[in-house]
Amino acid sequence: MNNSIRDHATASVEFNKDEDYVNWHDETLWFVRSKRDKAVFQIPEWEQLREAGSQIKNHGLSNMHDLLVQFEEKATQNGIKVHWASDGKEHNEIVLSILKKQGVTRMVKSKSMLTEECHLNDFLKEKGIEVIDSDLGERIVQMRNEPPSHIVLPAIHLKKADVGETFHIHLGTEKGATDPQYLTEAARQHLRDTFLTRKVALTGVNFAIAETGGFVVCTNEGNADMGTHLADVHIASMGFEKIIPKAEHLSVFLRLLARSATGQPITTFSSHFHKPREGQEMHIILVDNGRTTQLGRPDFRNSLKCIRCAACMNTCPVYRRSGGFSYHSAVAGPIGSILAPNLDMEKNADLPFASTLCGSCSNVCPVKIDIHDQLYKWRQVLVQGGHVSKVKAAGINSMATVLNSPKFFRTAGKLGRFFMKNAPFLVNNGMNPWYNQREMPEPPKESFRDWYIREKGL
Ligand code: SF4
Repeated sequence: MNNSIRDHATASVEFNKDEDYVNWHDETLWFVRSKRDKAVFQIPEWEQLREAGSQIKNHGLSNMHDLLVQFEEKATQNGIKVHWASDGKEHNEIVLSILKKQGVTRMVKSKSMLTEECHLNDFLKEKGIEVIDSDLGERIVQMRNEPPSHIVLPAIHLKKADVGETFHIHLGTEKGATDPQYLTEAARQHLRDTFLTRKVALTGVNFAIAETGGFVVCTNEGNADMGTHLADVHIASMGFEKIIPKAEHLSVFLRLLARSATGQPITTFSSHFHKPREGQEMHIILVDNGRTTQLGRPDFRNSLKCIRCAACMNTCPVYRRSGGFSYHSAVAGPIGSILAPNLDMEKNADLPFASTLCGSCSNVCPVKIDIHDQLYKWRQVLVQGGHVSKVKAAGINSMATVLNSPKFFRTAGKLGRFFMKNAPFLVNNGMNPWYNQREMPEPPKESFRDWYIREKGL
């Protein structure tokens, strides 16, 4: 898999070369989506829960400044050191300064998509710091020198045999071993040694509570707890949008998150951190990195309600059949495609087009983000801002001219039917990627309009 390919469509062609593999990827993610459906249908008040989650997040976005300041005040009172980072670089520098102060060159880290967004591992590696990811999926992709392909299931693109091979190379397991229990045990032994020897542990943050100054980290493996409980220093990295007003709101999000992510009623470990234990240091880094810009875009601010459950990815037919790496961004899938252009329109102009706009993402979103509407709006912003290729912009402009004029529309229809029938090679040829995996439809004899006029005798 070539991670350096930038454009989603080109990278998807690469991903689609192995049809059996793509079918397996598609079915595996659909299985997760089906588990989510079963869990959701067991809760009669699901829609009320979604509405509550959406409203609480809306309130959080409208009062973000005050809530973050309240959080800082309470967390500081609790003995947590609060840092503010305007971008990824500043976040990484803060982490480095804490590590330097501790005089350590090794750190254990549990899953944090924010650190992926900030490219923390690469930054620290350059500075001579070794980071071991302790989430099993993340550790697997880290060994393979790959980024996560999914925000909840980082190694979902790999089969058991791939994991067996990776562990054989890096952990010395038996060649050809694919037994999940054997492989997991090998990872457990390897990570146990890491937990016992690292003085600093970094975690992400799922929810930070303004009222208490505490925060919650959700994992299924308990790896965040293992890291932080054994370390002298706990660093937590948090995007601004993770703030919620009160502790009583947590129950809404914990119920929504686990069911939407994996179909579980509750995440196995929902760990609450309020203050450092005696002798321990606790830091939290509040990171902007484009979030306040997105908050200022009325059409796109709702994307900040995201609780990173990945339900929109699991349901998306494009994600399932193009794979996470095709999105060339820390967060893939529909949500990644509305977040990434905010960070860099030029680099991520292709992503909002990687969708059928079927709306399934918006339907499953537990906090009611209007994802497919935002994908559509981003397309307009990107075309109007000149961020898409000249060929694509010309195509879209010609189509707009045709669709805006009934006369042009009728003429274009006639010409289309004529050429499809008499010179199909003009449309269906190697230069038109649309037909690479499609068959040319049979051209109709007449347009619907002509048929209607004829039938009705108008
Ligand atoms: S946009 Fe909604 S469905 Fe997608 S990851 Fe975020 S919360 Fe989950």
